[in-house]
Amino acid sequence: MDRDRRDFLKVAGLSALAIGAAPHLACAADDMPGEAIPSPKALTAKRWGMIVDIRKCSKATSERKCVDCVVACNNTHNVPSFDSKQHEVKWIWQTGLENAFPGEENRFLDEYITDTLKGTPIMVLCNHCDNPPCVRVCPVQATFRRSDGIVMQDQHRCIGCRFCMAACPYGARSLNWVDPRPKIGQVNKEYPTRTRGVVEKCTFCFSRLSVGVIPACVESCKEKALIFGDVDDPNSEIRQILRTQPTIRRKPHLGTRPQVYYIL
Ligand code: SF4
Ligand code: SF4
Repeated sequence: MDRDRRDFLKVAGLSALAIGAAPHLACAADDMPGEAIPSPKALTAKRWGMIVDIRKCSKATSERKCVDCVVACNNTHNVPSFDSKQHEVKWIWQTGLENAFPGEENRFLDEYITDTLKGTPIMVLCNHCDNPPCVRVCPVQATFRRSDGIVMQDQHRCIGCRFCMAACPYGARSLNWVDPRPKIGQVNKEYPTRTRGVVEKCTFCFSRLSVGVIPACVESCKEKALIFGDVDDPNSEIRQILRTQPTIRRKPHLGTRPQVYYIL
């Protein structure tokens, strides 16, 4: 049995005990696929990572207001759409340069973004950090890091304490303050919905990877602005790009070691 599976079962056992001791913590969501034994078709990696090429986003944005990746992710994962900011649930979203890369501002970079990238917003998502503070603070191990680097969120174990949200310096986690189900457009029956009181976030589409399919956002991008792959494989496309082109990461000074890279 691989280490991830062993760890998962160990934690699941502890959670079952916790649920037995505290009935109010009982299962708060539909079945959430865990790290099951992979199918022969599964896409695997030593270390998954992603590149977001904002130059290509800019091309799409100049032609139309492109949010294809957001729509694909939301539809795939039953992410609700609330009108109020207070209730917003975000897996992948757009933000301004100053939010994406605080501390990197200078007037020349601002000019570059304005002139060359036509003010294109920056796509942001969970960075699946190598050193994730969200994992360290979770009191019930509802969030954990797999050996391939994916930072998971188990809806069954989440007790909604929001420690992980406070610890994440990227705002990559959202709490369902109210029942999200009435706010899901067309429910995808292949993926579980969540309930009030649980935290959720991007999972690097682990459930799609487990059946041999690339992440929904990557698949949906007509400009091929999102590159997903094994950063530990010297022959992978993502590694070739990382080796030959300058990239930046969000808030690297915090020591979280994000594995989402940006080309501006
Ligand atoms: Fe955790 Fe935030 Fe890093 Fe994602 S971006 S792994 S939620 S600290
Ligand atoms: Fe959403 Fe999957 Fe893209 Fe993460 S990798 S933002 S879960 S579509």
